Amino acid sequence: MRFTWILCLALAGLSACNNEKANDADVVKDIFSEALSDTTAYSNLKTLCTRYEGRICGTAEADGAVRWAEALLSSMGLDTVYLQPMMVPKWNRGEEEVGKVLSAALGDHLLSVCALGWAVGTGPEGVTAEVVEVTSKDQLEKLGDAGIRGKIVFYNQPMDPTHYYTFESYGEAVWQRARGASMAARYGAVAVINRSLTMASDDYPHTGIMHYADTLPKIPALAVSTVGADSLSGWLKKDPAIKLFLRTTSQDHGEVTSYNVIGEIRGSEKPDEIIAFGGHIDAWDNTQGAHDDGVGVIQTIEVLRIFKKLGIRPKHTIRVVVFMDEEVAQRGGAAYAASVKAKNEKHLAAIESDRGGFTPYGFSIDASPMTVGKINNWKKLLEPYGIWSFKKGGSGVDIRDLQPMNIPLLALVSDSQRYFDYQHSPSDTWDKVYPREMQLGSAAITSIVFLIDNYGLE
Ligand SMILES: [Zn+2]
Repeated sequence: MRFTWILCLALAGLSACNNEKANDADVVKDIFSEALSDTTAYSNLKTLCTRYEGRICGTAEADGAVRWAEALLSSMGLDTVYLQPMMVPKWNRGEEEVGKVLSAALGDHLLSVCALGWAVGTGPEGVTAEVVEVTSKDQLEKLGDAGIRGKIVFYNQPMDPTHYYTFESYGEAVWQRARGASMAARYGAVAVINRSLTMASDDYPHTGIMHYADTLPKIPALAVSTVGADSLSGWLKKDPAIKLFLRTTSQDHGEVTSYNVIGEIRGSEKPDEIIAFGGHIDAWDNTQGAHDDGVGVIQTIEVLRIFKKLGIRPKHTIRVVVFMDEEVAQRGGAAYAASVKAKNEKHLAAIESDRGGFTPYGFSIDASPMTVGKINNWKKLLEPYGIWSFKKGGSGVDIRDLQPMNIPLLALVSDSQRYFDYQHSPSDTWDKVYPREMQLGSAAITSIVFLIDNYGLE
């Protein structure tokens, strides 16, 4: 008999607490104890990251990861495991990219570069041009045609280090990668090269999706490491006549079929009502994709493993969705939402984990104030494990298409200080994830699923 039970029995006459609540605290403790003492999840993360490195949608690596997730879920004794098909874009970066500074005064220097996702290539002959450095949208507009035509635009607006939550810094700087090519092409640029979106000073280039405007010429777009960007900026100050040689041989291959992977434990009382949770299994082609987002996949598969291990029988159906293609066109999220709509499936909630495997501290909740209030009532159960923040806010890219159906959406929120050191970079390897930090997240999601299953969100 646990202390909380004894306390409740002692205070029964005062109705200071009730057995139900005391039992919840025990279950939450058991969930965290299981997550923190079992090594299955970390071993699964290592397998996913090392066996299926570079699993961007449309690749053999992505296909392999889908089959691996299906086999893993099938081995867990779940009630249902199935694949959900969709079409995904396919692209390949071709030969290793070249970025070379050419300067009569300073000599030639190689830069650490990579093509941005879905950017057109320069072709095998490459492109050579003078460079113009741009650190803001305003500056780009001021330079205009006269300052830009025929040149390579070097976007060098760093992520603002003064925000506590680094996703804000990313949000302010990401225009350079996402829209910079077309913004520069409007003024006649021949290519763009972007400072990598990280506050880390290292020599890894960070890729990521970019988009072209239909009405403008498509020009090559590359990322350069932050060390390379700082060097290039310094050299340009000494020799403004520097030229840059860029060579990329990326190619678009249209679309191919891929899959979300879904696994369920059927509800004992209301099997037609679902609590869904997931992360995305695709990762950029230059990385193991550990923090982004192998962790999210593993943490949400853990929910089912922990329910099984502890013998918790859910009243509602609990479902993991291993999403395909978060990084490029979000087809996995769209396919899932379309299926929910077509089958008219009732969801109590959908939860996403895609903010890295660092120490979690709460959930961001996209739902009514009443739902946010209800979740806050559970704070005392989770606070002993460092999970204390339950605030209204955005959820995640994979579940956002469920929003029009008025489904409460939650995202696990973790410490963000180091996330962008790794995101979309070769440095995002499994060993950068600390197992206890990842497992606190697994347990936090499992606990929230347990509480929603018991008390609902309405
Ligand atoms: Zn992600």
